[in-house]
Amino acid sequence: MSYKTPFNKPYMCGKELYYIAEAHFNGKLAGDGPYTSLCHNFLESLSGCKKSLLTHSCTAALEMSAMLFDVQPGDEVIMPSYTFVSTANAFVLRGATPVFVDVREDTLNIDEKLIERAITKNTKVIVPVHYAGVSCEMDSIMSLASLEKLKVVEDAAQGIQASYKGQSLGSIGDLGALSFHETKNVISGEGGALLINDEELCLRAEIIREKGTDRSRFFRGEVDKYTWQEVGSSFLPGELIAAFLWAQFEELNTITQKRIRIWERYYSNLKDLEDNGQIRLPIIPEGCDHNAHMFYVVLDGSLDRDRILTEFKNNGIVSVFHYVPLHSSPAGLKYGRVAGGMEKTDSVSARLLRLPLWVDLSNDEQDRVIDTLKQSLQKQ
Ligand SMILES: *Cc1c(COP(=O)(O)O)cnc(C)c1O
Repeated sequence: MSYKTPFNKPYMCGKELYYIAEAHFNGKLAGDGPYTSLCHNFLESLSGCKKSLLTHSCTAALEMSAMLFDVQPGDEVIMPSYTFVSTANAFVLRGATPVFVDVREDTLNIDEKLIERAITKNTKVIVPVHYAGVSCEMDSIMSLASLEKLKVVEDAAQGIQASYKGQSLGSIGDLGALSFHETKNVISGEGGALLINDEELCLRAEIIREKGTDRSRFFRGEVDKYTWQEVGSSFLPGELIAAFLWAQFEELNTITQKRIRIWERYYSNLKDLEDNGQIRLPIIPEGCDHNAHMFYVVLDGSLDRDRILTEFKNNGIVSVFHYVPLHSSPAGLKYGRVAGGMEKTDSVSARLLRLPLWVDLSNDEQDRVIDTLKQSLQKQ
């Protein structure tokens, strides 16, 4: 059956192919060409970070972070269990152990109050994940990290143009990782960026991204040849991807505004379901400006999520849930451990439902989603 209302529809701003054609015409297709520079400048002025580097994914930016902090076997990295696998993989690849901490009831972000007791003498990094583009409690996390001399890598995969007390997500920790995967707000198919806020990491980040060489310095004329400096890999995207991404960056404000309008329309139309206790709507704490990356509802424990998903399916609407918690997954059990209970993570992941949200979702389509949810809750 072909669905009438998909969960996500990648939004094209219009100039993507034009800029790709221009990159083709310029004859410069490898990475770090003119479009990559435009994207770097854009991200630096948007976020206020010291330096930004495009990567081929957010996963790659997280892997670079683990390399930049010399994460080693025996090291521990604190993160939520309620996240995407890349948050953990990046550190497991370096032999480290992910240590999972439960989430907050309201934002579904790592509970900052539970981090301190997860710290051991082996802890090296804390990875706050800004779920749905809503910030973690960064003041507490940053002051704990500075007290305990730990590094902070923000997984801001979902966080472009969202902020915490006026600071862009990804620009608060030592490093931040953004995603431009086609399911995110701003896209290039696959794509990401590393935001670097610690001046001392800038040079090494360039080297690690360019196969462990000082090629970037060579191109700036700072050295007369480039050589193998340390262990690295190829983390940069080609120019065609950067050209595509540039067309998206030009429209960032429009994208965010349109998504916010849809998000708010869901919120106001579903309020009555919250008032009668059937669902819980997203909570945006004071000081957090979100980017409408996602609209989810948390169902009351008495409701049958599978039945609601089937109802959506029967009406040609795709609604999904996530995450399957990492701590109880096969790889999570093998490579990680929990610090404390995971009650909230387990409870929320069994009750969360994500509704379709993309830039051109029409009012009519959205109304059908809302009506379907209401009807299916009435039957329960
Ligand atoms: C999407 C996502 C990633 C991975 O991003 P890619 O660009 O696909 O590698 C990592 N962490 C979180 C929280 C994400 O949502």
